[in-house]
Parts: sequence; C-alpha cells; structure tokens
Amino acid sequence: MSELTTFQNLVNGKRIDSVSREWFDSFNPFTGKAWSRIPTCGAADVDFAVESAHAAFTSSEWSSLTPTARGQLMVRLADLISENAERLAEIEVRDNGKLIAEMSAQLNYIPQWYRYFGGLADKVEGRVLPIDKPDMFAYTRQEPLGVIAMVTPWNSPLLLLAWKLAPALAAGNTVVIKPSEYTSASTLEFVELFEKAGFPPGVVNTVTGLGVDVGAPLSAHPKVAKIAFTGGEISGQKVYETAAQGLKKVTLELGGKSPNIIFDDASLDNAVNGAVSGIFAASGQTCIAGSRLLVQRSVHDEVMDRLLAIARTARLGNPANRETQVGPITTIPQREKVLSYIDIAKSEGAQCVFGGGIPTDDALKDGWFVEPTIFTKVDNAMRIAQEEVFGPILSVIPFDDEDHALKIANDSLYGLASGVWTSDIGRAIRVADGIQAGTVWVNTYRAVSYMAPFGGYKRSGIGRESGQESINEYLQTKTVWMSMTGKMANPFIIG
Ligand code: NAD
Repeated sequence: MSELTTFQNLVNGKRIDSVSREWFDSFNPFTGKAWSRIPTCGAADVDFAVESAHAAFTSSEWSSLTPTARGQLMVRLADLISENAERLAEIEVRDNGKLIAEMSAQLNYIPQWYRYFGGLADKVEGRVLPIDKPDMFAYTRQEPLGVIAMVTPWNSPLLLLAWKLAPALAAGNTVVIKPSEYTSASTLEFVELFEKAGFPPGVVNTVTGLGVDVGAPLSAHPKVAKIAFTGGEISGQKVYETAAQGLKKVTLELGGKSPNIIFDDASLDNAVNGAVSGIFAASGQTCIAGSRLLVQRSVHDEVMDRLLAIARTARLGNPANRETQVGPITTIPQREKVLSYIDIAKSEGAQCVFGGGIPTDDALKDGWFVEPTIFTKVDNAMRIAQEEVFGPILSVIPFDDEDHALKIANDSLYGLASGVWTSDIGRAIRVADGIQAGTVWVNTYRAVSYMAPFGGYKRSGIGRESGQESINEYLQTKTVWMSMTGKMANPFIIG
C-alpha cells in the first residue's frame, strides 16, 4: 500500500480516479521525495469532464441562477478559501516549494478575486440601442461563452487560477481546469470547496496529467468554447494553433524578460530592495521577474555594492519555515534549465559576481536549489538578457540616459512588466509612456490586484486578466432586433 497521499479529480461533483486507473508522483522540491499521487488522465477523461461542464452549462440549475445568486456563491467560496487557507498553503509549500510566508500572503489575498468578481456578476449589463430605424427596438445582452478550458502553470497555481476562474464564473460559464503536472495538488484540494459553497455539480471540473495527453485534447475539444492559458511560449503557441483550428476564443498569459530600470536620481535603498524582490522572490520563478536590471552608469557601482550587500543576507532553506527567504526551484528540469543559463551567460562573457551554482550547505542538499545569482557586464543582445530563465538569475545592464534605457528596455520580444526607479515625476511619466509592457511599476515592483488589468504586450500574451474589463474575456454580445410594427414586408414586392 502506497504511503503517498492520493488525489482524485473532481468531475460532475464527484471525486474520481482516471479511466486508466494510473497515477504519477508529485514531488516535494525541498526533500526531493515523492509525497503524493495524481491521476494520469487522457482523452477519455477530458471528454467526460468537458461533457460534464457542458451539461452543467445547459442545466437550469446553473443557467437559471440569477447573476446575484451566482455572485453570492462566489462570495461564499471566498469565505471558504479563507477558512481553509492554512491547509491550502501547506499543500502548495510541500508540492511547489513556495515559501510559507508567500503562500500565506497569497491565500489571504486570493479570496478578493472571488469577492470582487462575485460583486461584478450582477453589474454586467446590456444596452438599449438608440437604433436608427424608428420601427425597430434593439438591445444587447452579454452572455457567457460556455465551457472554458483553463490550463495553468506550476509557479502560482491557485493565484493564477483565481485570475481566470473568478471572471469566468461571474460571467456564468462552466469550467474544466487542467493544472500543471508538477503542481496539481493544491488545485485538486481547492475544488473541494465548490460543493461546500453550493455550486451545482459540473460547474467546475478538473483533469490532470501531461500537457500533450490532457492539455492538448482539452484545448481541441469541440465543446470547449475558450481556452484560458498561462504558461510558456511553446505550449502557448500550440494552444493558439489548436484554438485557430477550432475557431475558439483564447487568452494567453506567457513569459517575460522584464526590465527594472534604476535612474541616478532614485532612492537607491528603495530601488535595490525592489530589484531584489523583483528577481529573488519565489526564486525568480515568476512571469514578472525583473530579470534585467538596467542601471544608470553614474550609479552602477554604488547600486552593485548595495545589491551584493542585500543578496549576501538571503536565507535559503526549508520553504515551510517562516524565516526562509529563498526556496528551491520547483522541478528538476527547471533547475537544469536555470543552471544551463548560468553556463550560457558565462560563455557569452557576462561576469558572475554572486552565486552561480548549487549551494553547498548540507541542510539544502536534498532540495532543488540554485543560488541567487548576479551577472554584470551583460549586453542586452546576450541570450541571458533576451531569453526567459525563470529562476533567480539577475542580469545587470548599464545605460547612459533615458533614451538609452528605453531602447534597451524595449529591445525584447517580451512585454509583460517593468519597473522604473526615479524621483523625477516627469521622467517617471515619460518612461512609463515609452515602455512597451502591460504593466509599469514606478518606485515599486510586483504589485498586483484584482482591480488592475494584467497581461502582455508583444509575445508576452493576448488578452487581460483581473480588473473589471477582464470579465469581457468570458462574455459575448448578442444583439436582439424587434419589429415594433408587427409587419414584415414581402421581399419580392419592391416599393
Ligand atoms: P508550460 O507551458 O510548460 O505549461 C503550462 C501548462 O500548459 C501546463 O499545465 C502544461 O501541462 C500545459 N501544456 C503543455 N503543453 C500543452 C499543449 N500542447 N496543449 C495544452 N496544454 C499544454 O509552462 P510552465 O513551465 O508550467 O510555466 C512557466 C511559464 O509560465 C513561464 O514561461 C512563465 O513566464 C509563464 N507564466 C506566465 C504568467 C503570466 O501571467 N503571463 C504567469 C505565470 C507563469
């Protein structure tokens, strides 16, 4: 008998194993050991889950709920998340290696997405059109799309799911969630709360397994109306191709190579704190990582001194301990990728001035750690400055003036986020205007909110999550025309 915790999927309100009755192991990145088993799904499981979501979408139990009642279910769900926050946080720490401090903060905040969009559910309104035909009455309705496939990555499973799920449910859709094969546990535990909140069965369903075996058939399923995807560029492209084949709607939240720009008039203490939080939080495994630190040449050496002083204080350790500041990398392949980029940067001529390998501390030996690492003498054309590493690797790039900073910042295929550190308000506005990115933080970094639209310019994505407008990503407009005369002329009689 296995000692691993065995998870099941949720389909049509019931806990089920996969058709294959096979499981794959999920690992604790701090111990390097398997701790749970996740069902290995395939196309048949996907079909069952989508059919269940489709049946729920067309059932009167869900479709006849008033938007106010739907919103109330979401508020109840938010309360249940708060009540279960500690348990969900602990699961994520074990499964993902995220710091308990970060997970506690996330779970404290995630309910706000459900409250905000629950409140928005009954504020979605159509319009009566002042139509240019006096014998007609015309109005619009905002209607849900149907079944939404949600494909999520491993780095922040519950938060990134909330960004999709809250607007999608508020709009009246039903959902099939496919979490990352590396971090499925928290999602499978979380969906337990839907029945407790009073959602009808089938409104929220899950399928687990590999991208090719589960994500691909889910995206391609004819009864899926839209795919909401967060992940890497290669899978994102595949999802986009599949969406094109099926003429499905899609939102894509993809990668980044975000510039964090320090001008010489900035408070350097604040700027350096922002630089450290931008790259070493979550061990750099965030799409918004400020992985390119652009520093004005006149303060370059001073910034480096301060940066190194803080970096030396970073406490690596067990993510379950509150005092740990830097945890492990979540997966073995990701750790290999991060280490390979350290070699690439060195071979390109960048200078490693901090970290640069696997920590030697005996207490960390079982975990998948990479040292917080800082490279100087980075040219923006180098691969380390152009490609997303998704790890604790910072590239420091000097610049001369505002124009030069903007040129370097925008010389990227990506455009997800950015930071600007300056005490000059005019400069802050000019640079914020000039940066090609979906988010600009001025004298701060990493702030997100359920109220603030988030998404990518350029190759960082398509569509927006969070903020009022994001509910439109899950709605479609219907126009209703009505004759007020009750007469329809015979089209074959002209005049
Ligand atoms: P990934 O692309 O490897 O996987 C993401 C999800 O897609 C997983 O659930 C995976 O199983 C699934 N998948 C893989 N191939 C698929 C296919 N052919 N069809 C359908 N689904 C498929 O990404 P990852 O390594 O889990 O996550 C890291 C990436 O996510 C980084 O690039 C990061 O920048 C990005 N990310 C973006 C945001 C954002 O909001 N823009 C947020 C977090 C992470």
